[in-house]
Amino acid sequence: MSWSALVQELDAWKRVGRQPSMWLRDDDVQTPTAALDRLFDLVTRHNIAPCLAAIPKLADPRLTEYLSIYPETRVATHGFLHRNYAPVGERKIEWGSHRPSFEVLAEIERSSETMDTLFGNIALPVLVPPWNRMNPDLYPHLYSLGVRGLSTLGAREINEVSTGVQQTNVHVDILNWQPEPHFRGIDSCVHILVQHLSNRRMGIVDQNEPTGLLTHHLVMDEPSWKFLDSLLTVLTVEQSTIWPHPDKIFSVET
Ligand SMILES: [Zn+2]
Repeated sequence: MSWSALVQELDAWKRVGRQPSMWLRDDDVQTPTAALDRLFDLVTRHNIAPCLAAIPKLADPRLTEYLSIYPETRVATHGFLHRNYAPVGERKIEWGSHRPSFEVLAEIERSSETMDTLFGNIALPVLVPPWNRMNPDLYPHLYSLGVRGLSTLGAREINEVSTGVQQTNVHVDILNWQPEPHFRGIDSCVHILVQHLSNRRMGIVDQNEPTGLLTHHLVMDEPSWKFLDSLLTVLTVEQSTIWPHPDKIFSVET
């Protein structure tokens, strides 16, 4: 039932002579692991250049050498320490309003510098704030820190969060997080995916925002991996979707 809804939606795009763009963001990257090998095996088979969101303070320098064999990969800045500053009972946030703005902005600058040092030209000047949220009051200051992109969760309402800072979000988190990370389920994932695709097709949301899949290789269970493989097979068969390079998604010149 679920898969047929996706196939029907892809057919609807075909009928109007269009191919939906898509991308894949994988969060919480820290170090080379068997799970990261598995992710690369999968995206390589499906010919997709992923965007990895790595935590600057926790990123292992061995990642740099590891990623040198996947030169199409890009790495975005996933917080600084992935530390929550919100009090118990509030939604978790690292770059929120619980600390003075100047302190958070200095931390963002340090995060970007750390990423540049670690990853050089595969580091994208893009922030992926932990828990997919940050204080919007900080947006106007990001460009002067060298930030050119932002990625959170959900259909974007605006293309740029401030001048020169492109927003491209993800839309389908394939995991459920409570009580602990586990596969969200085929029906739910496909439903969310089809909803974003059909909303784009009908112009209810920004048609030009690529539909983003969100994965977390470190905590994915077996059903999540199997689903991801099946999903990418459906999405790439007969080029029913296109997967622009992350540089293009964030309009970054390299
Ligand atoms: Zn995270």
